[in-house]
Amino acid sequence: MDHFLYRDGALHAEDVPLSEIAKAVGTPFYAYSSATLLRHFHLFNDALAWSKPGHLVCFAMKSASNQAILKLLGDAGAGMDVVSGGEYARARAAGVPGDRIVFSGVGKTREEMQQALTGGIRQFNVESEPEMLVLSEVASAMGVTAPITVRVNPDVDAKTNEKIATGRKGDKFGIPISRASEVYAMAASLPGLKVIGIDVHIGSQLVDLEPFRLAYRKVGSLTEQLRSEGHEITRLDLGGGLGIPYERSNAAPPSPTEYGKLIEEEVGHLGCEIEIEPGRLISGNSGILVAQVIYVKEGEDRRFLILDAAMNDLIRPAMYGAHHDIVPLIEPAPGAEPATYDIVGPVCESGDTFAKGRTMPSVEAGGLVAFRSAGAYGAVMSSEYNTRPLIPEVLVQRDQFAVIRPRPTFDDIINRDTIPAWL
Ligand SMILES: *Cc1c(COP(=O)(O)O)cnc(C)c1O
Repeated sequence: MDHFLYRDGALHAEDVPLSEIAKAVGTPFYAYSSATLLRHFHLFNDALAWSKPGHLVCFAMKSASNQAILKLLGDAGAGMDVVSGGEYARARAAGVPGDRIVFSGVGKTREEMQQALTGGIRQFNVESEPEMLVLSEVASAMGVTAPITVRVNPDVDAKTNEKIATGRKGDKFGIPISRASEVYAMAASLPGLKVIGIDVHIGSQLVDLEPFRLAYRKVGSLTEQLRSEGHEITRLDLGGGLGIPYERSNAAPPSPTEYGKLIEEEVGHLGCEIEIEPGRLISGNSGILVAQVIYVKEGEDRRFLILDAAMNDLIRPAMYGAHHDIVPLIEPAPGAEPATYDIVGPVCESGDTFAKGRTMPSVEAGGLVAFRSAGAYGAVMSSEYNTRPLIPEVLVQRDQFAVIRPRPTFDDIINRDTIPAWL
């Protein structure tokens, strides 16, 4: 459920007509609904309320990292899952305390470790032995102790897009679960580290609970095994990955509530604090991208809808073959004839295609359209390819909206280049 609905014939974000935002900031732009972001966060938070030792929902901020979004969620009690020093700095700047930040990722550098140990960290999710050795060195040199979990790779096929499956043997993430015993023994022997738990994350956009069940069952047995080997396992970080319905016509994927139940069934008896790292399910349906039709071009055997948004603004269709529902801002009249388009951007690549042969309400040049479910992995993956300025982000709350990232001017962009004196 989201808060982008037609009202009086016009698509709104909460109580604001999107056409009003378009007038104020120009197109294209991203708009986020505060109510939807909070609703999804609370669904997850409530779904883990059964956990007596406590729980923390750490928003995977790589899915949407504007500080306004982080502050909104952080103020509601969310933690953050960060994967770089930049994300760590952003979360802190947005007011999220270090003890609610977990650091994931396969390639943490010494500098990033120092940054997090200085600023405060809930835990590092360590992904390899070399990383563990470096973290031990860095923490020891600073005279501090780094709380860690080890990310295990449970060898479970998440049955999702190849590029976002992360828990199969052969993926670059974590250590094989079969070697966990050795790796935890090594962690226990190293100075500067304190083992507190286990971490797992098997992939993104999972629309079936079964792979989660398999992975969490393995983590459950591993918890018992590691405890019997003398390790104190008090926290389980179960990752993110729950998917969203990109096509309205699709069956609804499992809800956070069902997901929370599954966690309770598989690992609830272990008495561990539960942590999860959802990204997409919190931010995905909370954002849309609004674009204007520049031209309707009649091709030889097809009709092109050429938009002012392009693959640099929303790369998911080009990168993952992802589907986004695209709807006009003006509600089509009942019984209006739909039209079929190839929907493309102005970038000079054929890959700059959002949809092929898409049947949708007919729109004209100058008309505005919205890409639904664009809040996750949208703005954060945008670039200035073709020297197209990063598009603005707008946050809506009830009847008010604010620009939370302005559109840069051409000068802002080109003045970042420096021309050497010898040219
Ligand atoms: C990407 C990622 C997530 C979030 O995944 P979603 O599919 O957006 O929920 C969580 N944890 C880790 C370690 C990740 O890499």
